[in-house]
Amino acid sequence: MTTKRLPAPWILALVCASALAGAGVAATISKPQFGDWGLDTPGMDVAVKPGDDFFKYVNGGWDAHTKIPADKSGYGVDFVMSDAAEQHVRGILEADPAAPDGPDGPKIHAAYLAFMDAAKAQALGGKPIEPDLAAIRAAKDRSDIAALMGTSSVGLQSSLFDADLDPDEKNPTRYAAYVSQGGLGLPDRDYYLTPQFAQKKQAYQAYVAQLLTLAGWDDPAASAAAVVDFETKVAEASWTRAARRDPDKTYNPMSPAELAKAAPGFDWTAWLKAEGLGGASRVVVQENTALPKLAAIFAATPLPTLKAWAVFHVADNAAPYLDSRFEGARFDFRLKLLQGQQTDRARWKRGVAFVNGGMGEAVGRAYVAKYFPPEAKAKIDALVAELRAALDQRIERVDWMSAETKAKAHAKLAQFTVKIAYPDKWRDYAALQVSAGDLVGDARAFKAFEWNRELKRMNGPVDRAEWGMTPQTVNAYYDGVQNEIVFPAAILAPPNFDPAADPAANYGGIGAIIGHEMTHGFDDEGRKFDGSGRLADWWTKDDAAKFEAAAKKLNAQYDTYSPFPGVHVKGDQTTGENIADLGGILIALDAYHNSLHGQPAPVIDGLTGDQRFFLAYAQSWRDKRREDAIREMIVGDVHSPELYRVNGVVRNVDAWYAAFDVKPGASLYLAPSDRVRIW
Ligand SMILES: [Zn+2]
Repeated sequence: MTTKRLPAPWILALVCASALAGAGVAATISKPQFGDWGLDTPGMDVAVKPGDDFFKYVNGGWDAHTKIPADKSGYGVDFVMSDAAEQHVRGILEADPAAPDGPDGPKIHAAYLAFMDAAKAQALGGKPIEPDLAAIRAAKDRSDIAALMGTSSVGLQSSLFDADLDPDEKNPTRYAAYVSQGGLGLPDRDYYLTPQFAQKKQAYQAYVAQLLTLAGWDDPAASAAAVVDFETKVAEASWTRAARRDPDKTYNPMSPAELAKAAPGFDWTAWLKAEGLGGASRVVVQENTALPKLAAIFAATPLPTLKAWAVFHVADNAAPYLDSRFEGARFDFRLKLLQGQQTDRARWKRGVAFVNGGMGEAVGRAYVAKYFPPEAKAKIDALVAELRAALDQRIERVDWMSAETKAKAHAKLAQFTVKIAYPDKWRDYAALQVSAGDLVGDARAFKAFEWNRELKRMNGPVDRAEWGMTPQTVNAYYDGVQNEIVFPAAILAPPNFDPAADPAANYGGIGAIIGHEMTHGFDDEGRKFDGSGRLADWWTKDDAAKFEAAAKKLNAQYDTYSPFPGVHVKGDQTTGENIADLGGILIALDAYHNSLHGQPAPVIDGLTGDQRFFLAYAQSWRDKRREDAIREMIVGDVHSPELYRVNGVVRNVDAWYAAFDVKPGASLYLAPSDRVRIW
């Protein structure tokens, strides 16, 4: 649930409204960014019947005349918003370094300058990673390799196991160290194991060989084959993405001695010590049946193969900061071949991402000061309160849940923490040293700073003021262990949040996003955490069984969605997001109706309020992606592709049928008894 260990719940479009109808707003606003009331009407394809393909009905015109930019793997509303935030951050980073960008202004400018010095990276070649490679060459045995893997949290090495420090799911007031499966260089285990990715796996082996050659490793072709063979075994032993979503199964606390006994063949003592966790008395193991297998694979793999694996991963991790041979090889494989991107992003864009990644809150501090209007925070606050009230009413109304469980659900909702736009307390970067003349050093320093910051707070109370995303991120999340919903400033922007737009458009946009994040607290994963953030079962057996049955029914719908022959959405992998999408739209629609206070919604351009709400919802998911990117998304993402986030959702909503007069025979039509009703 935390954003680091598990896929962050989230994303999408946003904006909202009755809060927007407040005094003072109209006076300062002229016209919405999209259309006359918030919808880009020419972007529709009215030749399509809404009941046959609602996504295309709303977005088909846009899709027909929009080309995905060569440096992107997709395009759409969230890309437009991210581009805007990226431009804003560029302006900050390229401004006069003496300008007042907060106490860390000089550091963010220095890091950006370091990244922009392409000539220096070119001149240095592979030299900056020589110390890392020398350490691998010097390893005498597997214990030395385990110790090197343990430095992955503070540098450029990779590890067969990942360590994380996050609030303890069974005691959310303190932190715990988590240990999970790792070791793969491709986006998901499916890339090693399923026929649809066979060619990409082959290309991966060539990429491994290419980087080993650049790193000066002996016999790169044979070594690359051994590395990919090793990772294939790791993939076979690894849990699927769907299995990893179950918080009950991924919570397995044990002492380091118990871990060493359960997963022999790997020097856990050396690894934990190198991670800075040598003194830990307890770790929480996540994929508990996979770790023993991975340790056994490690023990059975020849030392030269483990070394070649480590060398490749150092080169791969460092490639974005090295000369054009490394950087170009990485682009050709990771972005062009895997995602279909045609050209690399301009260096400044990568520089913005680099500084955002390493000093995100220092950048964010300058970003919100310049680009986030303080009055918007109050509007979103009010909107969240409306959505919360609507969800509370829906919980009361659902007919499948007992009064006993409902009381606990209400209590959990009342305990939600809401974070909007930016943190109250900014991160302190005083301990971080960056240099405009040492890009790879800065990359290492970013990682070490973050890991050491987390290590330092380990034994203290959980800092509930902390944020898991930066303000300039176009995204949002729910964190079950903190029981909080978080909306960074950059997602509270047009077209999704547009104070000048019709309220229906804002409820269908940001309203549905806020509802989505709230519903995560009650999806198949979030429902397992109580109001205090503790992983604890507060459901009656009967209510839990009814919830699971409804979730399975929804999964079965999504399992049928197929963007390409032989490729299907994985219902069990995406179930939390699908439940959140469905809950989000329903909560937002209720909130919209509540905001009308019994008065009929105005008709605008011949459209009813409900019609405008659904049109705006579908517009907020406007998106197109390259085929390779969709294939990666299906296996590697807990979200369904945007097409199904619209069509898969509205067909379960009674009000959508009424709004567009959708009747039996329409492609999206579901009989009322087949519609899934959860929240
Ligand atoms: Zn989500």
